[in-house]
Amino acid sequence: MESTSLSQPASLIDPFGRSVNYLRLSVTDRCNLRCTYCMAEEMTFLPKQQILSLEELRDAATAFVELGIRKIRLTGGEPLIRRDILKLVSSLAALPGLDELTMTTNGVYLPSMAQPLKDAGMSRLNISIDSLKIERFKQLTRVGDLSQVLDGIHAANVVGFNKIKLNAVILAGFNDDEVIDLASFAVDNGLDISFIEEMPLGEISSHKRAATQITSAQIRDQLESKFTLLDSTETTGGPSRYRQVANSDSKIGFISPMSNNFCESCNRVRMTAEGRLLLCLGNEHSLDLREILRSHPGDSERLKSKIIQAIADKPERHYFDPDQVDIVRFMNMTGG
Ligand code: SAM
Ligand code: SF4
Repeated sequence: MESTSLSQPASLIDPFGRSVNYLRLSVTDRCNLRCTYCMAEEMTFLPKQQILSLEELRDAATAFVELGIRKIRLTGGEPLIRRDILKLVSSLAALPGLDELTMTTNGVYLPSMAQPLKDAGMSRLNISIDSLKIERFKQLTRVGDLSQVLDGIHAANVVGFNKIKLNAVILAGFNDDEVIDLASFAVDNGLDISFIEEMPLGEISSHKRAATQITSAQIRDQLESKFTLLDSTETTGGPSRYRQVANSDSKIGFISPMSNNFCESCNRVRMTAEGRLLLCLGNEHSLDLREILRSHPGDSERLKSKIIQAIADKPERHYFDPDQVDIVRFMNMTGG
């Protein structure tokens, strides 16, 4: 088995030579919103006993960090609805070897949670916002109140989170007329923003995904009518590319899982809230880590050896087809 001693840092390298150093950890599949592209209107969530406990999440995260994971992003579902999330944040933030602990949130609970999250050791936040129009935001999220998210973004800024990044999924014919407004909002507030292509994860009823596809290149063309976008060297690995907005502190990211396959630089794996290790967003294959966490609690060597074995099965790339839902798993179950 690979050495995990401190003198020789461990690393997870897959068969295609990619170093895996980034874990997206889903802490719940539940959410207070119902974004149309993410969930069906009627969703069945996992029974509570199938969800990993805080201790199990921490043990899994610890094993990953001991194996060379340097960045963890907490996600869901909505991570801020997980009870005792702050305890988990504190314990993960204290893990030796972890460089960055981040979270993706819909922002609704940030007005009260931003400060405690900062105090608990959260490094950075991504906040999702797909529209700046009250009615449209409500329609897109089915239940959401835009003012809560705007207050959440403000709160995160006020408590001093640096490099806050907004995430916007753009759907053609729905919110593609807001690309410039969303980017201007980010620039005016000194934030970064990423525009995300919609992925065909799960069977939804609100729209035909093939009809709402828009590429990052089309979004970038729109943006270039207003902004000068300069090359940026920033990358997080995986399917995102960044541009610096001239004369501003803001960067604009393009996450292009559909139009541009950057799988060759993928550096991440995901663990679902019930402890399934997903080696690729666009493949159904997964490994059940909960079984090991529950049958051998505290046996970190066994867990690590399973993770190392799993990395050997990381697929080379994904094949998404918007006309066809190959992946039955919804994004809230995946951990976006
Ligand atoms: N609830 C949190 C939020 O919305 O930020 C975290 C979880 S959410 C699943 C993470 C990200 O995935 C969000 O930015 C969301 O917009 C994005 N997302 C959800 N479903 C998607 C899909 N089918 N295609 C592309 N992005 C999606
Ligand atoms: Fe909830 Fe995030 Fe999915 Fe929207 S995208 S339904 S906020 S998990």
